[in-house]
Amino acid sequence: MGSPKPSKKRIAIIPGDGIGQEVIPQALKVIRASGADVITTEFDWGADRYLRDGTTVPADGFATLGRDFDAILAGAFGDPRVKTNIHAKEILLGMRFKMDLYANVRPVRLLDAALCPLKGVEPKDVDFVVIRENTEGVYTDSGGVFKQGTPDEIAIQEDINTSKGVERIIRYAFEYCERHTKLDGTLRSRVLMCDKSNAMTHAGGLWQRMFKEISAEYPKISTQHMYVDALCMQMVRDPRPFDVIVTNNMFGDIITDLAAGLQGGLGMAASGNIHPGKTSMFEPVHGSAPPIAGKNLANPFGAILTAAMMLGHLGFTRESDRIEAAVLEGVRQGKTTQDIGGTLGTREVGDWVAERVGQH
Ligand code: ATP
Repeated sequence: MGSPKPSKKRIAIIPGDGIGQEVIPQALKVIRASGADVITTEFDWGADRYLRDGTTVPADGFATLGRDFDAILAGAFGDPRVKTNIHAKEILLGMRFKMDLYANVRPVRLLDAALCPLKGVEPKDVDFVVIRENTEGVYTDSGGVFKQGTPDEIAIQEDINTSKGVERIIRYAFEYCERHTKLDGTLRSRVLMCDKSNAMTHAGGLWQRMFKEISAEYPKISTQHMYVDALCMQMVRDPRPFDVIVTNNMFGDIITDLAAGLQGGLGMAASGNIHPGKTSMFEPVHGSAPPIAGKNLANPFGAILTAAMMLGHLGFTRESDRIEAAVLEGVRQGKTTQDIGGTLGTREVGDWVAERVGQH
C-alpha cells in the first residue's frame, strides 16, 4: 500500500556563495533523477547580487518564499569580498528568524566506519539527531557595547530564552520521536536535554522546568539531562547512547559541528530548519568554504543528503530513501571527493549518485 503520492511541490533553490554554488546543482541533479514531482525556481540571493546592486533580500523576499513555495533548498552564504558578512546574516538568519523556522534538525549518522575518527566505532553506533533551538538564544544580537575601544569597554551579549520558544522546541523533540525511526527501524524513544544550568541558572531554570513539564505528557519516551561540557566528552568517548538531543541555539551550533566530525566531517552533514506546517528551509551544515570554492573539490554529499531530508519532509519518502541508499553505496564504493578519501570531483560525485538514483 504505502502512503499516498504527494502532489507536485514547489521548491525555492538558493545556492548562495562559494561551494554552495557547486553542491546545490549536484543536489538538484539528484532530485531530478529521483523522479520526485517537484517544480524548482532559482533565486540569486548571495554575495554576487549584493555586490552588484546592494540587495541582500528583495523587499517581499521572505513573504514570497512563505507564500509561493513548499520548501527551500539553500546552499551556503559567506564571501571574503563582503567583510561585514551582512548579506549572509540577512539571508540566512533572516529566513530562520523572520520565517520563524524554530527547529534546526540535524541527523547524525555514520555511513561507513572508515569515515569516523573514533576507534572501533561502527555505523550502528552513531545514529542520533540534534534538535537545536533556532530563533532565540545569543543569536538575536541583543545587548550592546559601551565605551567601545577604551580600556573601560563593556560588551553585553544577551541570551534570550522565552517560555514559548523553549516549550515549542522541547515539544518538537518529543514529537519527533513519535514520527522518526532509527537505523534499526525502531522508533526513537529517548530525549536528552542539554544545557549549562549549573552556571546559567536563569535560562537553565526555564529549560529544566519546561523539560520536566513536557516530558510528563510523553510517558513512553525516556528522558535524560546532561551539561553541555559533559555531553561533548561523552560524544567523543562513546556516541552510542545518544538518540534525540534537544538544546539551545549556541550549544546546538557547537555540538553539531562536533557531531559532524563523527560522520566524516562537514561535507557529510545535512540539516533542516523547520516550522511544522510552514515553508521550511533545508541546508547542508557546512558553510561557503572559500579556500576550496570553485575548484570542484567540495563534497556534495551533505547537500545531497539535505535534499533527501527535504524530500522526506515533503512526503516523497521513497525518493528520499533511494537517494540516501545511493549516497551510502557511493561511500562504500569510494565514489567520493578527497575530503573523505576519494579521488572524484564535486560534479563527478553528483553524476554518480544521480545515475544510481535514476536506475531504480
Ligand atoms: P561558515 O562561517 O559559513 O560556517 P566556515 O569557513 O567557518 O564557514 P565552512 O565553510 O563550513 O566553515 O568550512 C570550513 C572548512 O571545512 C573548509 O574550508 C573546508 O576545508 C572544509 N569543508 C567544509 N565543507 C566542505 C565540503 N562540502 N567539502 C569539503 N570540505 C569542506
